[in-house]
Amino acid sequence: MEMALHILHVVGARPNFMKVAPVLRALTRQKSVKQTLVHTGQHYDASLSDIFFQQLEIPAPDVNLAVGSGSHAQQTASIMIRLEPILSERKPGLVLVYGDVNSTVAAALVCSKLQIKIGHVEAGLRSFDRSMPEEINRIVTDQLSDLLFTPSEDGNHNLEKEGIPTKKIHLVGNVMIDSLKRLLPLALQNQKNSLPAKFALVTLHRPSNVDDSNTLKSILQSLQNISRQLDVIFPSHPRTRQRVADFGFDTGHIQFVEPLPYLEFLAMQRAATVVITDSGGVQEETTYLGIPCLTLRANTERPITVSRGTNILVGQDAHRLEEEVTKLLNGKAKHGIVPPLWDGHAAERIADILVSRQPELAKSLHA
Ligand code: UDP
Repeated sequence: MEMALHILHVVGARPNFMKVAPVLRALTRQKSVKQTLVHTGQHYDASLSDIFFQQLEIPAPDVNLAVGSGSHAQQTASIMIRLEPILSERKPGLVLVYGDVNSTVAAALVCSKLQIKIGHVEAGLRSFDRSMPEEINRIVTDQLSDLLFTPSEDGNHNLEKEGIPTKKIHLVGNVMIDSLKRLLPLALQNQKNSLPAKFALVTLHRPSNVDDSNTLKSILQSLQNISRQLDVIFPSHPRTRQRVADFGFDTGHIQFVEPLPYLEFLAMQRAATVVITDSGGVQEETTYLGIPCLTLRANTERPITVSRGTNILVGQDAHRLEEEVTKLLNGKAKHGIVPPLWDGHAAERIADILVSRQPELAKSLHA
């Protein structure tokens, strides 16, 4: 009889949930695969975690490490300490990690020392900016991974340049788009609130934008200027909201709201005149939806959203942001195409690859 393959998924933060959901679904269809889901508890707020499990129909985690917040070192270390005994006891044949959050790198470090095989979903993305904590997580996770699933060809090139053997790298497409494609019809159907005819949708949470008071002040000032031309709706991350309160800024007509559930946020993106963001995932989703996106960063680990999609990098230049908004209100919006393999089937391709490697991965269970 063929040995079952035990795959253990580690997730912890909001941008992981829309990535794990389609992979769990695709693997559920494989009878020979047993799955375990570990939530590290990096995001524990109901508005950043529970609601995503419900809407994305992710089963309740088998294990919750409940690490909570802390500095990068504290959080990464707590995840490692709490995950090690779980992995030693459950002995999965493969651990799948997602994206670039602290849970991703922490799990990869623990697995590599326990000699458990690692698959990285969303491998190979690089901003080439090591001041960004996520970039460190990406580089380390990719170096330690045995199977690297990339969303676009640039990922393959980056990994090859870093000396990762080609046979470990699989171009599968974008799993985040799998979730978007599956749930967009439901999101549009559920849309109850009437939205303004024209609005800018804003999300900002990167330390480079929200931790420095001068930077945040000039961004808020330019959002206020923009709010004279169209509504500005800003579902704000707890971290951003805290900073705005700490610095005591006047927020004028900017409409701050709670972080939105996934379906509501998708419907808002679809309806937006423009999206202003520093989120990685939002750059991709707007490219898929064909909605203009202005990214308040000097670089992006998702260059395909600029070269092929609707994304424009405006740096931290508030003046440029206002100029670009004016330009698109005057009918000069950037158009784009949907990148290859962002087709809703990336997770199925991952499942097929894993099943084809099953004999070899299942063996490590008994190593
Ligand atoms: N998102 C959401 N509600 C919000 C803001 C974002 O559902 O209020 C979703 C968004 O659609 C995308 C994901 O969260 O799927 C992106 O996560 P985040 O911006 O936290 O992380 P990043 O992609 O920058 O790592």
